[in-house]
Amino acid sequence: MKKFSVVIAGGGSTFTPGIVLMLLANRQRFPLRALKFYDNDAERQQVIAEACKIILKEQAPEIEFSYSTDPQTAFSDVDFVMAHIRVGKYPMREKDEKIPLRHCVLGQETCGPGGIAYGMRSIGGVLELVDYMEKYSPEAWMLNYSNPAAIVAEATRRLRPQAKILNICDMPIGIEGRMAKIVGLEDRKQMRVRYYGLNHFGWWTSIEDLQGNDLMPKLREYVAKYGYVPPSADNHTEASWNDTFAKAKAVQALDPDTMPNTYLKYYLFPDYVVKHANPDYTRANEVMDHREKQVFNSCRAITAAGNSSAGELEIDEHASYIVDLATAIAFNTQERMLLIVPNNGAIHNFDDEAMVEIPCLVGHNGPEPLTVGDIPQFQKGLMSQQVAVEKLVVDAWEQHSYQRLWQAITLSKTVPSASVAKAILDDLIEANKEYWPELH
Ligand code: NAD
Repeated sequence: MKKFSVVIAGGGSTFTPGIVLMLLANRQRFPLRALKFYDNDAERQQVIAEACKIILKEQAPEIEFSYSTDPQTAFSDVDFVMAHIRVGKYPMREKDEKIPLRHCVLGQETCGPGGIAYGMRSIGGVLELVDYMEKYSPEAWMLNYSNPAAIVAEATRRLRPQAKILNICDMPIGIEGRMAKIVGLEDRKQMRVRYYGLNHFGWWTSIEDLQGNDLMPKLREYVAKYGYVPPSADNHTEASWNDTFAKAKAVQALDPDTMPNTYLKYYLFPDYVVKHANPDYTRANEVMDHREKQVFNSCRAITAAGNSSAGELEIDEHASYIVDLATAIAFNTQERMLLIVPNNGAIHNFDDEAMVEIPCLVGHNGPEPLTVGDIPQFQKGLMSQQVAVEKLVVDAWEQHSYQRLWQAITLSKTVPSASVAKAILDDLIEANKEYWPELH
């Protein structure tokens, strides 16, 4: 069986150890010959990489492991680039969340003005990764799950149209896992779904088991009462996420025929979100105080002891969708997966050039999108507005245009007026000087 060489871009990410453990657990179906890390922050990456080196030595000494901040070293001789970078890291995410809140607008990683600010930082970083891949391993594929995926996907569609990049998100996968629990199935792969939308902005229209039994009536009844909080308590879910899963009940009430993506709460109930936010302590603070500390402390402990049992790193099994995607390309499995792809007529009554999230069959030539057909006015209206925001952000980045970015923030459904949009934009420009192109 062929063995693959993979580079993880964003080697210093809090998600890297969990992904490495997941790759090791899945190596029967996706065998590795080499694993490399790449990051532009040498110090941060080293902490994660030294611990992963020990894990790899214990579990799979045959896999050649290295890490580097040099693009040529990292991107040469690879078959896949798994990209999860966060340009500006958590301190900039904190600003994305807190600046809009100062103006009574929600602050969120990928939605609203915060997501727009993050998009303006991420476009250049992801394009750079694409260019390194094309220069040093032109046959490779990039599996990108760096956020904000919608804006990044629009940028790569427009600015690197020939690139072998697949943009994928784990949120629908996480929600489907919950749906499976709700209807009493062991695994989301025991369901076949129809879904359409934009990234972090979509709806399930049909959910069946593999025998073709309709699971929507049971889900509808349950979600109307409890949202996506499954019957058996899950101690792993943090309070802020639990609230999001419970709020799906209110989101679903707007269109009971479908099941919503949880992120729609930010667009449909922004007043609720602002009211329940703490402007001095946001999700970025939660992650920095808990997840980031836990992962980095564990890595340091493992390296100091020279033994993986000294730390508590958890396998990110739900990230095995990345292996599903890699094996679909490598072994032409034709697996059906939700990907962010150019619409190209899949949704009949929607912009052909929009990047939409829809089911695709994935094989060695990449994704083959499935037809969605016509979508209803409510969804079409919301999606048209949001896709315009995403396109205007890429316009602004490309043209260094203040005007386009002001329009983008004004058009976001989370922002009440052009004057509020301008005030937020001016604060965001100040905070993002190091990362954004200079706007005129
Ligand atoms: P993190 O800050 O822990 O890690 C990101 C790493 O990227 C850092 O080590 C940083 O130094 C590095 N980096 C930043 N800019 C870079 C550049 N230009 N080139 C190379 N490396 C760079 O962040 P995290 O919480 O682990 O998240 C990583 C990314 O993955 C985020 O974009 C996050 O939103 C995304 N994510 C996506 C999904 C999904 O399925 N779509 C799920 C979880 C996280």
